[in-house]
Amino acid sequence: MHLFVLLPLLLILLLQWQFAPLASAISAQFPHIVAAMILLTATLASLMRQWHWLYSLSLLGSHYYVVQQALQRPLTDPATAALSFTLPLLFTVLMLLLQLQQKPQLLTPRGVLLLLLMLLVPPLLLLLPLADWLALLPLPAAFFQPVSAQFLLSWGQLWWVAVIAACWLGLLNFYAANSQRWGQFAAWLAVMLFYLLIQQPQMSGWMTLAASLSLLLSLASQMLQLAYIDELTQLPQRRALLNHLSRLGRRSAVTMLDVDHFKKFNDTYGHDVGDQVLKLLGSLLGSERGLSAYRYGGEEFTLVFRHNNKDTLAEKLEQVRAKVAEYPLVIRQQTRPQDSKQGKQQRGNTPGSKTVHVTISLGCAIRNPGETTEQLLKRADEALYSAKKAGRNRVAFAR
Ligand code: GH3
Ligand code: MG
Ligand code: MG
Repeated sequence: MHLFVLLPLLLILLLQWQFAPLASAISAQFPHIVAAMILLTATLASLMRQWHWLYSLSLLGSHYYVVQQALQRPLTDPATAALSFTLPLLFTVLMLLLQLQQKPQLLTPRGVLLLLLMLLVPPLLLLLPLADWLALLPLPAAFFQPVSAQFLLSWGQLWWVAVIAACWLGLLNFYAANSQRWGQFAAWLAVMLFYLLIQQPQMSGWMTLAASLSLLLSLASQMLQLAYIDELTQLPQRRALLNHLSRLGRRSAVTMLDVDHFKKFNDTYGHDVGDQVLKLLGSLLGSERGLSAYRYGGEEFTLVFRHNNKDTLAEKLEQVRAKVAEYPLVIRQQTRPQDSKQGKQQRGNTPGSKTVHVTISLGCAIRNPGETTEQLLKRADEALYSAKKAGRNRVAFAR
């Protein structure tokens, strides 16, 4: 799902191969376009208070600057050869550092240090006698000599670095999916493509452009996530629900769902344990098929169905009710596991723990012809109220 951050890279490659005249007209304006795109992304990230993006954007900018400087030198220059060996390695290491770091806030000593590191370390390479140092290493000359007349091309060894780092980053992103990490991964991949595949110097501009566009996309995706997804339950929240309801079809149904005696539950086991229960409910409801689940607010959830078959609805809601009621919650001193899968593995086998259950009440309203979504929600709420009144832990349908 996060793979869309690779889109700019694909589009730019397509532009190069299929629309070469347009591509060369655009690249005549490099490096201004590239700098403008990095600055634009950095400005948007700052406006949205997403400072973390500035670290990778700084690295991208300073790396691009170094490549541009190096391109001024003759390609056979040993200093350029040494740079072509060192720069992608340094870029990979710094990108990995950004991936693995718990990102510090920008205006803290660690944050400022990290930003300076990203900005200053790549240009530092231009000042160091890299060629002399590399000559001291017991490496075969071919390891870091450009074999062709093209800049920064050749050495098979980097393929291995690239493949290893790609697997690493890919796995990392797979397990801790988050749009910023994917953006960084795409940016890294774009820059590596410049080193590995592409034979024209102006490609560094194109690939830096692709990288900053990937970061921009990941920023947009993060903002969407912040606006629509509830932090605790990871379900979409009320704004997303209203959006969904505004384009609800004629045949549809809405269910309001509320945890029973939750105040008492909180009082007995603590607010933290209460939060873990809501989180678990979020993962149970979110994985249900045939419905869209939202956190309406507090301990209330909304389920939206795209059909109005009462029997199917009744069966499904009863199934959800029973699933929650039967789910054993293990209360320990520490916080509960974060998702239902972990819970299944751990439940019931910890000494000193206690198993409890929570129940939910559900009120369902099937949409009447011509009914507004406000009226529909109100009827679902009334049905929920009657389920509570009838003794809780049950499903009620609106009249
Ligand atoms: P019932 O719905 O069965 O009538 O009883 P209730 O005790 O659940 O009553 P109500 O729905 O009015 O209470 C809502 C309680 O839910 C109040 C508050 O303590 C708890 N609650 C709401 N939001 C959260 C939350 O985000 N985390 C936790 N831990 N508790 C919450
Ligand atoms: Mg409530
Ligand atoms: Mg309640």
